[in-house]
Amino acid sequence: MNSTALPWPLRPELAGLHAYEPEPPLGDTALDANENPLAPPEAWAQRAALRLKEAALNRYPDPSCAALRGKLAALHQVPGNSLVFGNGSDELISLLLTAFGGPGATLLVPTPTFSMYKLCALGQGWQVMEEPLDAAFGLTSAFLEKARVAKPRLVFLASPNNPTGNAFDPAMIEALMEIDGVTLVLDEAYVEFGGRSWLKQAPAQGRVIVLRTFSKAWGLAGLRLGWLCAPPALVAELEKLRLPYNIDLLAQALAEEALDLADLFMGRVPALLQGRETLRVALSALPGAQLYASDANFILFRHPQAVGLHQHLLAAGLRVRRFGAGPLDGCLRISVGSPEQNRRIETALKGFA
Ligand code: PMP
Repeated sequence: MNSTALPWPLRPELAGLHAYEPEPPLGDTALDANENPLAPPEAWAQRAALRLKEAALNRYPDPSCAALRGKLAALHQVPGNSLVFGNGSDELISLLLTAFGGPGATLLVPTPTFSMYKLCALGQGWQVMEEPLDAAFGLTSAFLEKARVAKPRLVFLASPNNPTGNAFDPAMIEALMEIDGVTLVLDEAYVEFGGRSWLKQAPAQGRVIVLRTFSKAWGLAGLRLGWLCAPPALVAELEKLRLPYNIDLLAQALAEEALDLADLFMGRVPALLQGRETLRVALSALPGAQLYASDANFILFRHPQAVGLHQHLLAAGLRVRRFGAGPLDGCLRISVGSPEQNRRIETALKGFA
């Protein structure tokens, strides 16, 4: 419904926005949302059950996430006071836009990228500047020039990028950070699968804010836990806006248990990378498919019969993401599945005529 016709005094920006729309929940196998196909390790499930049993759910959770913070800081060797937790990194995208927002706020993003940056920014009254990536979805010198000339208040980059899958050239990212006045939000949601991380620079350097999540390599998307790393002085400002109990008691407890078993969780990444290779080989054998390089847990490809192929995969129970009009017209994005799911994809692709 057009919100301008509604009787409430809503922000005028909402009239031009559409809510985030995932693929309809069809098929028996979700390969459309870049999730981890593997259930969390059994050892964790057992510890999680104990934590649930002893959880004092009549009490508010620790608003400072002290135990979780300590474990995460130790794992990544960053100061505890350089971290902010969010209900998914989605919440932190919104929190950053609130904190840096206000009159005249401008954001620079590449296209295509994660749609939430633009959606959140427009909803909060930001002006959004978009600059296309090159044919291989790399950052361009025009992007750097735009950052230099237009001086956006924030630049959002996902590296590896979603939905394209590639990590950006580290030299381009460094060049962007060196531009006077630019603060870069570097979304490393997929960094465990490839590309370089700037996490170590984030607590001291001041020009890069790093976003991370438990939703992808950790395979805990249902827990809704993301975090950012930034200089403690900035973290202290963000804390003024963060809702005090945004990370519920169970999410804190279960993430603490996951961090205690970090080797077990991260030990599953090589198998997913092997799955990505299996998927790449299977897609390469599909006549007409144009594959893009992936450093993430999904592969984007273009196909002249993308609509038909999407339907064909759905008929086999396999739900993948299809993109409509725009630079990704004719593109499908498929997440790496379990070995058994990857075999089903292979078979389905072979059967597409
Ligand atoms: N950043 C990127 C680049 C993503 O692709 C996603 C999820 N698709 C997110 C952030 C959000 O992750 P979450 O809110 O689950 O932490």
